[in-house]
Amino acid sequence: MKKIAVLGGGESGSGAAVLAKVKGFDVFLSDSSKIKQEYKNLLDKYAIDWEEGGHSEDRILNADEIIKSPGIPTKAPLIQKLIALGKPIISEIEFAGRYNTAKTVCITGSNGKTTTTMLTYHMLQKAGLNVGLAGNVGKSFALQVAENNYDYYVIELSSFQLDNMYDFKADIAILLNITPDHLDRYEYKFQNYIDAKFRITQNQTDDDVFIYWNDDDVIRQNLGSIVSSAKRKPFSLKKGNGAKAYIEDGVFTIEDDDSFFTISVEDLSLKGTHNIYNSMAAALSANALYIKKDAIREALMDFQGVEHRLEPITKVKSVLYVNDSKATNVNSCWYALESMKTPVVLILGGTDKGNDYNEILPLVKEKVRSLVFMGKDNKKLIDFFKDIKPYVSVDSLDDAVMECYKAAKEGDTVLLSPCCASFDLFKNYEDRGRQFKEKVRNL
Ligand code: ADP
Repeated sequence: MKKIAVLGGGESGSGAAVLAKVKGFDVFLSDSSKIKQEYKNLLDKYAIDWEEGGHSEDRILNADEIIKSPGIPTKAPLIQKLIALGKPIISEIEFAGRYNTAKTVCITGSNGKTTTTMLTYHMLQKAGLNVGLAGNVGKSFALQVAENNYDYYVIELSSFQLDNMYDFKADIAILLNITPDHLDRYEYKFQNYIDAKFRITQNQTDDDVFIYWNDDDVIRQNLGSIVSSAKRKPFSLKKGNGAKAYIEDGVFTIEDDDSFFTISVEDLSLKGTHNIYNSMAAALSANALYIKKDAIREALMDFQGVEHRLEPITKVKSVLYVNDSKATNVNSCWYALESMKTPVVLILGGTDKGNDYNEILPLVKEKVRSLVFMGKDNKKLIDFFKDIKPYVSVDSLDDAVMECYKAAKEGDTVLLSPCCASFDLFKNYEDRGRQFKEKVRNL
């Protein structure tokens, strides 16, 4: 019997193990840290052999194929040994793709993946399709392929998931944007990260669709490297240059083959330029699946947004507080600031990922009243912004919220859009966002 070793016992790994077991393989799952109880229960339910807190190397090196969770870097010593032995290492999505018969809409990009995934899912549900949500959001793709019987999947894919995908094919692939991120996982070479993102369109044929943002220089410059023959459907803020979705005089328009669809930008439930892109990408994919225009329109108008993404919390003394905790890089903060219509008190800080703050400098100058740096080590932020705007430096959320409360004037917006990862003070960005909301509601 073919032996499969699954590395990592989180959502992705445990789902892959279940699918492998259901398909009759000899499965062993190994995690170097602790496995959450819910995943242990799942593995036990399917009588899957697992270990935690370390790897039994012999057993893993002996496997015929390895399914690697996206969180494990290629440079990890065990992965290097497996590579040296020539063992095939694949991702959970690659594995699940072998058994999937449903149509897939796959979404990647440096920013906007979750929002676009949820919005697309919302559209397909509204149209009455039997659709599953997978990838970085919701249940793993593999677990659903094992346990469910959907006709469609909307799948959010990070570059890490794309890394170990070889034969997988998306029926509809969406590439939202590419800005430098996670370079530590790509030998500090931007091109390696770009290549990973472009894997979203690999293996696509004439029957498939590739949707991408045509105003992104990085994407445009790399289109020449695509070998797939997918139908290309670019979107853009401007009409022309082949754009199938564009904005003209405040009207969002889809003009694609024989379909024509319009909706006023004012009517889109998601606000901000970045969300116009996300809305265009989602609507183009729904349109390519021949979903009724009414369902697309309604979904664009009533989508509730996703927690921690430019999420309005409440007004306190006529100041609006907004939770954008998911803005863990500079580019996403740029879009958050760009969408602001009032003066802003901006909270920045956390674990710096090699940030270059020059990108947001003009918007900080134009829109920010004052800055609150929240983190264990705020030196880089202080050095960069000290002569630009008034600031305070704090090392707790309590103090940050209090400083914002003092600094904001009636009509302002307090924005948590920190440009940084959260691990210095919080468990993760969700924890940061939730604690922020709680503190704000208690003001
Ligand atoms: P991802 O899943 O790719 O991390 P999200 O949808 O979770 O993306 O959004 C993360 C943050 O990125 C949001 O808080 C928002 O500020 C910003 N953002 C969302 N969509 C875009 C976009 N299309 N381009 C740039 N920034 C965006």
